[in-house]
Amino acid sequence: MDDNILVVNCGSSSLKLAVFDSDLNSLAHGLAERLNSEEASAKARTVDQQALALPANADHHMALVTLIEHFRSVGILKSAPVAIGHRVVHGGEAFTDAALITPEVIQAIDRCSALAPLHNPVNMIGIDAARALFPDVPQVAVFDTAFHQSLPPKAFHYALPTRFYRDWGVRRYGFHGTSHQFMANEAARLLKQPTDQTSIISAHLGNGCSITAIRNGRSVDTSMGLTPLEGLVMGTRSGDIDPGLFDFLMGKGLSTAEINRILNRESGLLGLSGATNDMRTLTERAKAGHPPSTLAIEVFCFRLARYIGAMMASLDRLDALVFTGGIGENSASVRAATLDHLALLGFKLDSAANSSHGRDNEHRIHEASSRFPVLVVPTNEELVIAQAARDRGYGPH
Ligand code: ADP
Repeated sequence: MDDNILVVNCGSSSLKLAVFDSDLNSLAHGLAERLNSEEASAKARTVDQQALALPANADHHMALVTLIEHFRSVGILKSAPVAIGHRVVHGGEAFTDAALITPEVIQAIDRCSALAPLHNPVNMIGIDAARALFPDVPQVAVFDTAFHQSLPPKAFHYALPTRFYRDWGVRRYGFHGTSHQFMANEAARLLKQPTDQTSIISAHLGNGCSITAIRNGRSVDTSMGLTPLEGLVMGTRSGDIDPGLFDFLMGKGLSTAEINRILNRESGLLGLSGATNDMRTLTERAKAGHPPSTLAIEVFCFRLARYIGAMMASLDRLDALVFTGGIGENSASVRAATLDHLALLGFKLDSAANSSHGRDNEHRIHEASSRFPVLVVPTNEELVIAQAARDRGYGPH
């Protein structure tokens, strides 16, 4: 028995797997993309990177079996894992923590699907596929929303008639909770102080982007809301817009489905630049003199700076501003442009440390005279999920 832990992250057309040993060392990764289409493909990273054949229209179950068979062929996951952790996007108000998956928990996840119709049903596909393959292994659901259940009412209520909250659960939930929680723990570790005495602002900037105020280890405000559309400018999502836009666009003949698609898939960096949602490409284009790419980056950084300022309203102390996610970890120019807006608050970056992403400076990228420390910390959501699976999966079941 190897005591491996399997982490499953199921997207609408993708499946990500990770295998850890019982000490939470990473052993293998797998990624299947464009599932249920002609171009279904998979690759695995174990000792090296390897492309795997998937038949056309392969589904999540087939991708899971293919990746696991490959892991076994290279000596990983020879016996069934001891626990499986699943990323589940929406836990509503039902889940403040990870949960061992039972029939009741599945019913509760189903009920939350009304709040996340694009995400939870897909996450359930992963749970079903893993259950079919490993019927006797305890499975644990880890929710993107759970860490934000500590938001106080003044932060989670929209200024709407309260019956919407009471009858339909309309409120701000927040997402990327596993990443923000990891940041809270990592920042505390780096600052050498207990998590429950550490207050940070955590900026997760990937394709999806969100920012969270964490006071003494607990989430007290966050930029995403009822859905992951609210808040910062993202790769293809608009983030905040005037709700009056809906009426305006419907007056122009667009349907709610079209507006939804545009706000989720055709806006953000992609919409502004008219070119791409990829920050690397945008940065290159902006340097080469492409004004729409420059504008996209400026709007992205300005919105982020405004939100960093806004998050201060929830804190009585700031131990560090922490950047993470593909952009947060790798784009020195985004971090610099963002903090340029906040000189009044006393943020000062050390340009050499920022250029090297804090890698040779214990994650620190601020000058000694900066009023607040600024850290760059690689996120590791899979590790948090594996840890939760290990901790919850060993209980009585
Ligand atoms: P996801 O939310 O899909 O997990 P990631 O966290 O991988 O996404 O972030 C993807 C984003 O990170 C993309 O916009 C990508 O261009 C950006 N990114 C990755 N590496 C760099 C880099 N070296 N410089 C600037 N942006 C980067």
